Amino acid sequence: MKNIAVIGAGAAGMMAAITAADNGAKVTVYEKNEKAGKKIYITGKGRCNVTTNVDTNDFFGNVRRGEKFLYSAVYGYDHTSVMEFFEKNGCALKVERGERVFPVSDHSSDIIKTLVFAMQKRHIRVKYGSEVTSIGFDEDKVCSITVNDKDVINVDAVIVCTGGLSYESTGCSGDGYRFAKKAGHKVEKCYPSLVPLTIKENWCMSLQGLSLKNVAVKMEEEALVKSEETSNAEISSEKSSKKKKKKKPAYEGFGEMLFTHFGISGPLILTASTFYEEGKKYILHLDLKPALSKEQLDKRIIRDFEKGNRKEYQSILRGLFPAKLVPVMIELTGISADKKVSEISQKDRQRLVDTTKDMVMHVTGTRGFKEAIVTRGGINLKEINPSTMESRIKKGLYFAGEVMDVDAVTGGYNLQIAWSTGHLAGESAAGNEY
Ligand SMILES: Cc1cc2nc3c(=O)[nH]c(=O)nc-3n(C[C@H](O)[C@H](O)[C@H](O)COP(=O)(O)OP(=O)(O)OC[C@H]3O[C@@H](n4cnc5c(N)ncnc54)[C@H](O)[C@@H]3O)c2cc1C
Repeated sequence: MKNIAVIGAGAAGMMAAITAADNGAKVTVYEKNEKAGKKIYITGKGRCNVTTNVDTNDFFGNVRRGEKFLYSAVYGYDHTSVMEFFEKNGCALKVERGERVFPVSDHSSDIIKTLVFAMQKRHIRVKYGSEVTSIGFDEDKVCSITVNDKDVINVDAVIVCTGGLSYESTGCSGDGYRFAKKAGHKVEKCYPSLVPLTIKENWCMSLQGLSLKNVAVKMEEEALVKSEETSNAEISSEKSSKKKKKKKPAYEGFGEMLFTHFGISGPLILTASTFYEEGKKYILHLDLKPALSKEQLDKRIIRDFEKGNRKEYQSILRGLFPAKLVPVMIELTGISADKKVSEISQKDRQRLVDTTKDMVMHVTGTRGFKEAIVTRGGINLKEINPSTMESRIKKGLYFAGEVMDVDAVTGGYNLQIAWSTGHLAGESAAGNEY
């Protein structure tokens, strides 16, 4: 019987433990917290968007990093298998808008209970308050783990499921990266992802609490590129190299966003953030009426102006936008609130059209790991076998979940990655010869 240690009782860890036990291994899970699934508990705003019901082929279009690497794991244990697992173990699920899957109870605690119960049923030992502090190797093979810096336990295989760096209070402090580095693995630099963005413009903060549906955003990187230009020196046929600002498209999307006291958030912005790279400059263009072209919007505004030509500008704006946006539109268009619409020039009206179709915001950064849903970066995928999740450097060392350089957009994709890779790692660790 193989003796397997799983580090971390999160999504990937519990699934890995259950699968390894189903494949005949003796499994012990080590969790530094006093309970299992602290991060699962806060997922989906406490409801846990446990997976996505999209077709597996479409699944990969929503994976941001590690798409090809995940093929074996996800095709081997896809959303239908995950849903079947929870339903069979007594946790009824439902599919909501956007193919998001939740427990019928709307309680993430039911997902945790199901996993804990499944571990108990298989006599898996779970050691809480047990922080794995190092992994021991006998040449190129795993041989032991050290718990709480004192107890050395001999093992045949170790599955590292320690998660990323976001929401540190859930137990994720990057221990897995340390273990991997010590084993000789390369760890890609980590950044917060699926994270709210901070914005320079003050008008943005004045909209705090405003949620907008059916809007479009375009994020552009503002890069300084060297341009070879001929200047006065043309006469002497000498070339001078100058730096020019160039805009590169980074993301375009449609959906729902939210203004906050620091900038912007909401599903659309979280997705945009997965394209944000620290150290680069980004500009965000918000289109408040994406269903209308500029010409169509202008016609609509002309109609409104004609219908209420004795009205003030602010009163017409109230018919076009939510109340909170009205003072901002007045500020950005530079047209006085009490101006009669009959007195608004065509040039001013055009400014209203242009502002509605393109509200410009400068991104100053992200809200960091404390508010990030996932970690971008992690253990380099080239050194992990995608068919088994085993290290290519040390035998008996496996990885699963967010600790690896894999991530996806919101909608149940990140948990599905944890279930699929956890399942594959558990199965391989139990089945492989060491
Ligand atoms: C606020 C929020 C909401 C989210 N909502 C969703 C959602 O609805 N749907 C979705 O798909 N994804 C969601 N995610 C992302 C998802 O939760 C993670 O991608 C997923 O939990 C990763 O699983 P994991 O098992 O790799 O890591 P985790 O679930 O983070 O588990 C890692 C575990 O390892 C333990 N650990 C770490 N180091 C050690 C050590 N040295 N010794 C012992 N134990 C250790 C930790 O205590 C922790 O319990 C959300 C994330 C956040 C932060």
